[in-house]
Amino acid sequence: AAKAAGKDQAAVFDVAMRQEQADRIRLLERLRAAVDADEFAVHYQPIVRLDDAHPVAVEALVRWLPPGRSPVGPDLFIPAAEDSGLIVALGEWVLRRACADAAEWHRRWGTTVTVNVSPRQLVDPHFTVKALAALRASGLPAAALTLEITEGVLVRSGAHAAQALLHLSALRAEGVRVAIDDFGTGYSSLAYLRDLPIDVLKIDRSFMPADDADTQQAVLVRAIVDLATGLGLTIVAEGVETADQAGLLRALGCQRAQGYHFARPVPAAAAGDLLALAGNVQIEPVGAEQHGD
Ligand code: C2E
Ligand code: MG
Ligand code: MG
Ligand code: MG
Repeated sequence: AAKAAGKDQAAVFDVAMRQEQADRIRLLERLRAAVDADEFAVHYQPIVRLDDAHPVAVEALVRWLPPGRSPVGPDLFIPAAEDSGLIVALGEWVLRRACADAAEWHRRWGTTVTVNVSPRQLVDPHFTVKALAALRASGLPAAALTLEITEGVLVRSGAHAAQALLHLSALRAEGVRVAIDDFGTGYSSLAYLRDLPIDVLKIDRSFMPADDADTQQAVLVRAIVDLATGLGLTIVAEGVETADQAGLLRALGCQRAQGYHFARPVPAAAAGDLLALAGNVQIEPVGAEQHGD
């Protein structure tokens, strides 16, 4: 009886696997068509200075907007786009779009932009040329662009990591900055913080302390902040959802933060409005003459 039950389970599993595979293929077909039909948009989420909540940068986050359906988030389609290689074309489109949108924001308010880059894009021998072309076409200075990569990309040994390193070093030589995204979740090595071409660490949101009593998380965050600061890296805390978390991060010496507490990702036009509002707040310059009334 046990054997029969095992067989049944195997059959159920097999059906589920086939279903999953069919779903993946259908998703991939729809994604291909969506790339051809321009059904994507880039939304932007502010990254703020913790001192005064001023938005100093925005992160570009891709959205799929199938006509007549609700928007689809990247967690649902980026994995399929990566497996299939479609991410190379999609990622290049996001980069060009983000540079174009950010060029005006940078000109007016000094805002910089960060763009997620998938491992597949960094294996493309033309990535450096494509990124520089996106900058040139938009007029955005190289120093106003940060590329976000995950830890795995550079730590992996072999030809792929070597190719990725070449791209990042070449782009950094032009002024582009490099951020490690979701820091702390991968196979981190302290040596790479010292040796690799990086400028920014984004602490993964799984490290966010739940509240003031969450001392273990706070100890980890403090250690990461101290380490990165000592190495001259900029720290961004991800997933900040409450005022208490923002206050705690500030106390721990963290410079920048991103999260729903400050702002959600919004379409380009709304991001422009938000930056304009922040940019128009006049801050009294230090040492300026005081006018009485
Ligand atoms: P990520 O790069 O770590 O981006 C941050 C994600 O956290 C975004 O999800 C953002 O909406 C979400 N988030 C921001 N603040 C909060 C918060 O306070 N609480 C919570 N719970 N979440 C918050 P999103 O937009 O769904 O993107 C998910 C992931 O998809 C990104 O994670 C990134 O890895 C990937 N992704 C997004 N756009 C692109 C892209 O253009 N290219 C590539 N290769 N990957 C992308
Ligand atoms: Mg990111
Ligand atoms: Mg992240
Ligand atoms: Mg993530």
